[in-house]
Amino acid sequence: MYPFNEFLLGCSDARVPANEIIGEPPGSVFVHRNIANMVVNTDFNCMSVIQYAVDVLQVKHIIVCGHYDCGGVKAALTNTDHRSPLENWLRNIRDTYRLHKDELDEIEDATLRQRRLVELNVIEQCLNIFKTAVVQRKRVETHLSSKDGSSGINFSTPRIHAFVYEPTTGKATKLRVDFATYLKDLRSVYDLYQVPPKSIDKVNLTEAIRTANTESILISDTTVADNDNNNDNNNINNRNARKNIFAKLFSKFKK
Ligand SMILES: [Zn+2]
Repeated sequence: MYPFNEFLLGCSDARVPANEIIGEPPGSVFVHRNIANMVVNTDFNCMSVIQYAVDVLQVKHIIVCGHYDCGGVKAALTNTDHRSPLENWLRNIRDTYRLHKDELDEIEDATLRQRRLVELNVIEQCLNIFKTAVVQRKRVETHLSSKDGSSGINFSTPRIHAFVYEPTTGKATKLRVDFATYLKDLRSVYDLYQVPPKSIDKVNLTEAIRTANTESILISDTTVADNDNNNDNNNINNRNARKNIFAKLFSKFKK
């Protein structure tokens, strides 16, 4: 029904072709790009793209793909004022460093530390997408329709995937993200929608959400935790291999 099943958020860096990353031909994936593939809550551009992808295109998968040797991440690692508005943007990456300061400070090698910040930044942006109302709302809707069988899909969507790309080799690596663990302590802050423990009639969706003392869609849905991580698909270094692995990853969610 819709032309896109996947939405990819990537960096503006021209070395990172969005469709190439997932091994698809040009025009096959809905894309948004900015410096260091950030999801900033006050960025109406990015928020509008996410809303359109989720609500109108009804994408099943959201892929956040960062890349090593990212200029935005490198700039955020320098004690330099890059002037507004760029410095305001980079501040969001500095905040990611602050959240993971203990781990990053233990990495003595500057390049390795920078590479790890690229990965942590991707994971952080996945969580930022997951925290948006539009994604939480859609996951409640699809959770309910998956229970009553009306959607033909047994999972809540959209699913969110973290990838990092190595421009020098063309290798894409899937990052392990345990959303449930990451969000467990944040439930009381970020949960916007809840569903009752028993499946309900879709017409009662509005009444069902925000029901007190009910199952949390934000952390209880096991499909949130990405269980597709297998050693054989963590490193994907040519177009055909990427196409196959993404096809495998996505196939069970396609109608
Ligand atoms: Zn970049």
